[in-house]
Amino acid sequence: MATIDEIVQRCQDQVGDLAFGYVRDWKKRNPQGKVMGYFPVYFPAEIAHAGGILPVAILGGGNRIKLKQADAHMYSFMCSICKSTVELGLSGRLAFLDLFVGSPICDAARHMPNLMQRNVPGLTIDLLYYPGNLRTELAIPYLHREFNRIRQLLESVAGHAIDDEVIRRSVCLYNESRRLVREIYAIRRDSPWLILASECYLLVRAGTFMPVEEHIDLLREVLAQIPDRHARPIDKIRVVYEGAFCEQPPVEFIQALEEVCYVVDDDFLLGSRLIREDVPEDGDPLLNLACSYRDRSHCSSVQHDLRRLKSDDLLAKCRSAEAQAVILSPAKFCEPGLDDQVHHLKRFDREGIPSLQMEFQERMKDFDGVRTQTETFAEAIQFYAN
Ligand code: SF4
Repeated sequence: MATIDEIVQRCQDQVGDLAFGYVRDWKKRNPQGKVMGYFPVYFPAEIAHAGGILPVAILGGGNRIKLKQADAHMYSFMCSICKSTVELGLSGRLAFLDLFVGSPICDAARHMPNLMQRNVPGLTIDLLYYPGNLRTELAIPYLHREFNRIRQLLESVAGHAIDDEVIRRSVCLYNESRRLVREIYAIRRDSPWLILASECYLLVRAGTFMPVEEHIDLLREVLAQIPDRHARPIDKIRVVYEGAFCEQPPVEFIQALEEVCYVVDDDFLLGSRLIREDVPEDGDPLLNLACSYRDRSHCSSVQHDLRRLKSDDLLAKCRSAEAQAVILSPAKFCEPGLDDQVHHLKRFDREGIPSLQMEFQERMKDFDGVRTQTETFAEAIQFYAN
C-alpha cells in the first residue's frame, strides 16, 4: 500500500503535468469515454459523471506554462488563470476535451470562452449561467432549467440520455467524496500537524481530474493512515487562508505559508467543496443540485446572496478553526476577490482579529517574500500574545 507521502507526491506530479497525462490515459483506457472541461468556480460534476463523461476542472497552467500566445489576445491586467487557460487552448493542450464549459463569473471569465471559441479550432464551448441574484424566488427555477439545459448538452456529447435515476446515483458518490474531504479538513482543524494544508490541497485537487470513484478510494486510503502518522505539534500560529476560490496559488506558496503557520482552513479549490452538506439523494436530482448551490453552499466571491454576509461566513470559519489570524490573499487582478477583501478587512479590524494581506499569482516562482511577510506577521502575533 502506498504511504501518504507517496500518494501526495503522485498527486503533485499529476497536477503539474501540463499534458494532462492522467486524463489522456483515462481516455485510452476508456475508448468510448468522453471528457468535458469546466472553468472554476463550480460545475455540477454529478450530471457529467452520470453521462459517463469525465469532468475535469481546467485550473489554468500554474507556474510551469510559458505564455507564448495568450498575451497577444488579452490585455495585461487580467488574472493569470484566464490567460493560462487560453494558452492551454491555443497550444493544443486541451485537444482531448469533447466539451469546455465556462461560466461568466466575472468580466475576465465572461470574455475568455468567446476568445477560445474564435481561436481554438475544434473545441466545443458553452457557458453555464448562474443566477445573478440568489435571493429572488426565480433563482431556483432558473438554475433548475439551466442545469437541465446542461444535461441536454452533455447528452449530446455522451450520445445517450442521462436520466434522473443515474444522476441520483452520481449524487450519492459525490456526497461520499465531499464527506471524506470534510473529514480530512476536520482533522486539519483539530490536528494540523497530521495532514498539512499543501497535502490536503493536492489530495482535493486530484479529485478535479480523476473519476470520483477513484478519488473516494484515494481519500479513504489516506484517511486510514493519518492516525498512524508520526508527527508532533509545533508552536506555530493558526491561520485561515481566504482568496483562492478560483485561481489557485502554486503549491510552493502554500508550503511557504505552512513553514511559518498552521493553515487550519482555507478556500482552496472552493468549487470542489462549494456544497458543504450532502445533496438530498431522493427526488428531482437537478432541483436538489440547484437548491444545494443556493442553500447548502459556502459563500464565494462570485456568488451574490445578500441573505448571507461573506465576512460572517469567514468569521465563523475562523472561529470554528480556532484561528488566531486570517490571511487575505486574492489572486492578482481578481476583481471579485479584491472587492471582498475590503469588506473582510474592515470586519476583521472591528473584531480585533489580525489579518495579513498579500496577493498571489498562479505563475509566481519566488516565495521568499511570502515567507518573510508571513514570518513577520506571525512573530508580531506571538509577541503581542506573550
Ligand atoms: S481569478 Fe478572479 S478575475 Fe480571474 S476568472 Fe477567477 S474570479 Fe474572475
